Amino acid sequence: MSNSMLNIVLFGPPGAGKGTQSTFLVNNFNLVHLSTGDILRAEIAAGTRLGQEAKGLMDQGNLVPDEVVIGMIRSKLESTKGAPGYIFDGFPRTIPQAEALDRLLHEVGTEITVMLALEVSEEELTRRLLNRGKDSGRSDDTNEDIIRNRIREYNNKTAPLAGYYAEQGKYSGIPGVGSIEEIAGLIRAAIAK
Ligand code: ADP
Repeated sequence: MSNSMLNIVLFGPPGAGKGTQSTFLVNNFNLVHLSTGDILRAEIAAGTRLGQEAKGLMDQGNLVPDEVVIGMIRSKLESTKGAPGYIFDGFPRTIPQAEALDRLLHEVGTEITVMLALEVSEEELTRRLLNRGKDSGRSDDTNEDIIRNRIREYNNKTAPLAGYYAEQGKYSGIPGVGSIEEIAGLIRAAIAK
């Protein structure tokens, strides 16, 4: 049954390394990777109406509305039924998104297993994002004001999710500084607990 699923919320500020560690988790645990940032960028590239509406917000480092990303996740969950589990990357980012995710998973008889939270200092984050901006081609990675706004959005709206999952006994903090392999090792240990 779906109770045996492994459903991970990969959590951390922009630049914490969620994308990198997602790749590791997908390969090791055969999970479906759902990144709302990636889905939104695909919508923009495809020129959909949703993409056009999201682009202006993303370019400024603001969050897109909850109902938009919740709808995207709902349809991905439907189209990937039977998956052994999920990595939610960049979602949920607000308390209403976390509540909606709990409801959606409950409807199919499962729940979040653990939140893995990558912990990295703000100075290190800004440095990494500006560096990534040199070759990622992402317009939200090239300007320091926009990066600072993304971190502000994170601190105001997203950081409270740590408490939301901690109350459920599901929070697991992972030091996000070190080599990719070192951090992957810490993640593997946290999942095995
Ligand atoms: P990062 O974590 O490096 O900022 P993402 O790819 O996760 O990158 O997100 C890029 C942008 O996409 C965010 O700044 C935001 O505008 C939008 N976005 C992605 N996921 C969400 C979400 N769950 N809720 C609202 N906005 C989102």
